[in-house]
Amino acid sequence: MTGTRVGNRVIGAQAPVTVGWENIPKVEGGPVKQFVFTWFQPAMLFALIAFWYYAPNSIAKASTAVAIGIGFKALLLVLEWVNPRFDSWRLTWKEAATDLFYVAIGYTMLRLLDGYIGDDVMIDYVQKALHWDKFAWFMTLPLLVQAILISVLFDFGQYWMHRGMHNWYPLWVTHAPHHYITQLNINKGAVGNPVELFLIGLGIGGFFDFLPRAALLAGTFGLAVSVYQHINVRFNTPRWWRFLFNTTEHHSVHHSQDFEASRSNYSGTWIIIDRLFGTCVDGEAELLGMEGGRRMSIRETMVYPFAEVGKSIKHRLGRRSSDDQPIAVPAE
Ligand SMILES: [Zn+2]
Ligand SMILES: [Zn+2]
Repeated sequence: MTGTRVGNRVIGAQAPVTVGWENIPKVEGGPVKQFVFTWFQPAMLFALIAFWYYAPNSIAKASTAVAIGIGFKALLLVLEWVNPRFDSWRLTWKEAATDLFYVAIGYTMLRLLDGYIGDDVMIDYVQKALHWDKFAWFMTLPLLVQAILISVLFDFGQYWMHRGMHNWYPLWVTHAPHHYITQLNINKGAVGNPVELFLIGLGIGGFFDFLPRAALLAGTFGLAVSVYQHINVRFNTPRWWRFLFNTTEHHSVHHSQDFEASRSNYSGTWIIIDRLFGTCVDGEAELLGMEGGRRMSIRETMVYPFAEVGKSIKHRLGRRSSDDQPIAVPAE
């Protein structure tokens, strides 16, 4: 089943993927601009880590994390406007309006999820189910080490979920709509079918009950690194950063119209996981999407997984009745 579906994807001959960091264009402009667009990403990461490390308990809460996330994304929108990576990815009113719709759905789901996570009965239940005392050693590790371990562990789960989505048809139908985006910008992470958001949410929920401060720090890695997956900004990403972390360049290859190239860079934050499992491609692509860049409507995005499952059931039933035919013929 997966094979035929995959065969339907158009492998665009006119969709080049640039491979190798040495072939990727650099930021154009004066020394100040060069400096800003080289060090912006690490500076923001370190600033956010410092914040969560030293913030008093009264403000070290999930609601602060959400507020910072919104402010940070507003700042990134300004960067996209100042220094876009591709002019063809510039925001149009149509793109902005549909993005807003998906972002609103995303926040609604986050609020629902938050209701469960904040629930004391739920936390109590999870702690008992996990035999929490077995993890006591974990709490003795330095806070930053805890945070990195949580972040890597979570991303490891997300890596396999994402890779599974690209290799197993029932998961693929939930993820496919996200691959119909034809440009990257800061809100594109929210574009997709809600069922997919739920599946990824399962991964988040599973790890949410570590020492809260460490979880908030881990969330900072997620925010300050994986946010660049979908962004239209040209950076001179430092070598150590792109070796360790996922970048906008990596994720554009994942979204490229070239089928083989798109089967790469599955991790959300730690691209080093892809390096470890041989799925990393260092490069970038401008022409994105499926079927040669067909833009999927909101309506189709919402019904896609269900429509595809319906089609495949119909197809199977149809094949079964035609399979019966040849058996009937020789019996004659
Ligand atoms: Zn994908
Ligand atoms: Zn994406």
